Amino acid sequence: MDNSQSADTLAPSARPTRLRPRVVVVGAGFAGITLVRGLKRVAVDVVLVDQHNYHLFTPLLYQVASSQLDPSEIAQPIRKLVRGIRNCDFKLAHVAGIDLAAKSITTDQGAIPYDYLVLAAGSVSNYFGNDKLKRHSLALKNLPDAMALHNWVLQRFEMASWESDPERRTRLITFTVVGGGPTGIEFAGALLELIHPVLRKDFRGTDISGAQVLLAEATSQILSAFKPRLRQAALRSLARRGVKVLLDSPVRAIERHRLVLEDGRSIPTSSVIWTAGVFGAPVGACLQVELDRMGRVPVGPSLQIAGHPEVMVVGDLASLEDLPMLAQVAIQQARLASANIRAMTEGRQVGRFRYHDRGIMATVGRNSAVAEIGPFQFSGFLGWVLWLVVHLANILTFRARLFTLLNWGWNYIALDRPIRLLVPARRVGDASDLGDTEA
Ligand SMILES: Cc1cc2nc3c(=O)[nH]c(=O)nc-3n(C[C@H](O)[C@H](O)[C@H](O)COP(=O)(O)OP(=O)(O)OC[C@H]3O[C@@H](n4cnc5c(N)ncnc54)[C@H](O)[C@@H]3O)c2cc1C
Repeated sequence: MDNSQSADTLAPSARPTRLRPRVVVVGAGFAGITLVRGLKRVAVDVVLVDQHNYHLFTPLLYQVASSQLDPSEIAQPIRKLVRGIRNCDFKLAHVAGIDLAAKSITTDQGAIPYDYLVLAAGSVSNYFGNDKLKRHSLALKNLPDAMALHNWVLQRFEMASWESDPERRTRLITFTVVGGGPTGIEFAGALLELIHPVLRKDFRGTDISGAQVLLAEATSQILSAFKPRLRQAALRSLARRGVKVLLDSPVRAIERHRLVLEDGRSIPTSSVIWTAGVFGAPVGACLQVELDRMGRVPVGPSLQIAGHPEVMVVGDLASLEDLPMLAQVAIQQARLASANIRAMTEGRQVGRFRYHDRGIMATVGRNSAVAEIGPFQFSGFLGWVLWLVVHLANILTFRARLFTLLNWGWNYIALDRPIRLLVPARRVGDASDLGDTEA
């Protein structure tokens, strides 16, 4: 990327006086994309900034990690998503600072002045301040995490095929998922379905009977946001598949080749997948306000921060009435934020946020999901069909929807997971490695 150019393009001195207010949106996730769409017909210029050039559909992230979908089915280029929005420009950059007084954000590519700023930067994995947990576990929070996990799992089986010691072999193919929320149970179920019908056939010459998936949950229940009947249904479904669920099992430490629980139990495993919580994205700290216990920025009912009505925070990064960190919350808040920006530019009163709960769902694997929609509860096959329809309908592009449907159909009928290439990601050097810089 040409650094000087992208910074200059937006530096105050290099452009004519702005006739329309500039809205800078940080983050092109669920909230950011909804927001720029909501501002399409508003008399503002929008600059959308993200550290990645793609928008990620996180609910299907675990399917990339478990060899069911390709990354391109769950991630779409941001430029493609916004190219029909004439008042929106996209900038690929990492936001590292915010100057509230000067009304400007700092990125690794240069500064961008704003009239209105919306932070929609989402969240990161929460290790509760324990760096060792982070270093010794795998995460499932973003696309590189999912691709690394996909490779890691396949690699463990290849290593197991060379291992003659049965104890070491079992440890290599024992996967421990930490956290009994939707991400943990969805990945645990999908991993077991990858191992049993698929990898068992691939590794016919190796004894992989010791392969197992454990799920450690600190509290006495999984899926705590769901009704008890659905929690029980999910537990039974996991058990039927062979996932060993360990309730009341908080983690004390992750060490080389083992996971140690608070009560002293030790699980020999070379793979710990950490899905035990999320924390507001670090960029929230740049606002220099006191964050809540989950690292989120406190906002008022109109999603503005105290003392700065021109700055709003939405989605996972916003702390308001302890709402859950869900895509629906992010989308609904973004809709209000765009309406509020319009109201401010037109000199009208801003609106207050009211969350309309559209329900929650989680799948445990083939033919099994739990869903709670208003007063209705669904589990088993019906829940699963609902889950499929809702997720398919929410994928942003027609192409991704079509390919996802085809992949799901193939996987279901053939009991297969064709995406099993082991292609470790390699860091691309900077432009000088490619002979692309000026002397
Ligand atoms: C594995 C997984 C499964 C999930 N499943 C569901 C589900 O089934 N249903 C549901 O409702 N919710 C689900 N969620 C939660 C849902 O993904 C979040 O609530 C939602 O993404 C929040 O939207 P957002 O726009 O606030 O943040 P995000 O969608 O996370 O987007 C934030 C964006 O900000 C960018 N960004 C962050 N920091 C910077 C920076 N400093 N500079 C530039 N760009 C930055 C990021 O690159 C990202 O693109 C899931 C989450 C995960 C991790």
